[in-house]
Amino acid sequence: MMHTALQYEQKFGAHNYAPLPVVLTRGEGVYVWDDKGNRYIDMMSAYSAVSHGHCHPELIETLTSQAHQLAVTSRAFYTDKLGPFLEKACQLTGQARALPMNTGAEAVETALKAARKWAYTIKKVAPNRAHIIACENNFHGRTITIVGMSSEAQYRDGFGPFPAGFSLIPYGDAAALRAAITPDTAAFIVEPIQGEGGIIVPPAGWLRECAAICREQNVLLIADEIQTGLGRTGKLLACEHDGVVPDALLLGKALGGGLLPVSLFLSRDDVMNVFTPGDHGSTFGGNPLAAHVASKALDILVRDKLSARAAELGEYFQHALCAIRSPLVTEVRGKGLMIGLVINPRYYAAREICLRLMSVGVLAKETHGTILRLTPPLIITREQIDTVVAAITQVLTEAAANVVHIQG
Ligand SMILES: *Cc1c(COP(=O)(O)O)cnc(C)c1O
Repeated sequence: MMHTALQYEQKFGAHNYAPLPVVLTRGEGVYVWDDKGNRYIDMMSAYSAVSHGHCHPELIETLTSQAHQLAVTSRAFYTDKLGPFLEKACQLTGQARALPMNTGAEAVETALKAARKWAYTIKKVAPNRAHIIACENNFHGRTITIVGMSSEAQYRDGFGPFPAGFSLIPYGDAAALRAAITPDTAAFIVEPIQGEGGIIVPPAGWLRECAAICREQNVLLIADEIQTGLGRTGKLLACEHDGVVPDALLLGKALGGGLLPVSLFLSRDDVMNVFTPGDHGSTFGGNPLAAHVASKALDILVRDKLSARAAELGEYFQHALCAIRSPLVTEVRGKGLMIGLVINPRYYAAREICLRLMSVGVLAKETHGTILRLTPPLIITREQIDTVVAAITQVLTEAAANVVHIQG
């Protein structure tokens, strides 16, 4: 019997995702193609990992030439590619030092370890007392420690027990942060805009207030910009919207140019210097192939002004989405090209809207059942946005007509 790729994945894979029923075989720029030759505009861009667009020719050239030269060495030796990459990342972000990892979750784990060790060695918190504050509705990854600080029942259920030393405050609540800080508090970890949590934008000025509270209380502000960073929200870093330079910064996703997993934990000297040889590491972290591709990804981001592009086109896109005025949409929100379209759950699950969009050539994925995530590659054009808006308008109009029909 013939099996399709979809059936193989269903039969031999773990069911930890619920993909839309489409089998992708090729990508170029904002477009992907399925196994039947249908073309789609990718409004998902791999959870913002493909900000440069699929198979960016210059990044492919960088990848392949470096792969022929030297790919993986481990950190047991220096390479000619890592140092220049770290320097570039530090200069761009205003941080002193950077520690390379691969996935976002590893960068988060690195930050938590650094914050704890900093608390013991520099802040002089008593042994095993260090405490870290996170926000309700956060998403920082999927390791046991990280889901241990999640408020999302499904991320946690069945995976305990979890490490101690974490507490949660409501997102957007500065008074709650102040109240949660104790003399043992090492750090406050926060997403400038909550991505997986549903594209939640906090009140303007909140992050600035958090930064002031942290500075005053000698608590590290760790900005998790794995999704919001590198131009996504219309600034290189979303912290810039509030004029904040965090004590520590996490980058990932788009840092790999849509080709490789590359993440960074960046911080001040006194924080990074708590690490001594043997304290922490990663076999693949900082390998010359990843470092060279990520370095080129940063160059392209700056050269092609992708942050400014996200700001301009994001505003255009949000404006056009607001103008649709469908009874199925309760809210359009976001910043830059990180946009959430909230579907009224009385009528449709957002997944149903995603399936309908797929049938008209637009790939998007819902989050939290009601929110359509619209995070296209930052290279998307105004004309392509117009195409997407027309497709969304058509789908919402048809879907709304169905609801009236059913209720009538
Ligand atoms: C995706 C994400 C992570 C985790 O990154 P992985 O590469 O999936 O481990 C962490 N923090 C934020 C804000 C993210 O969006």
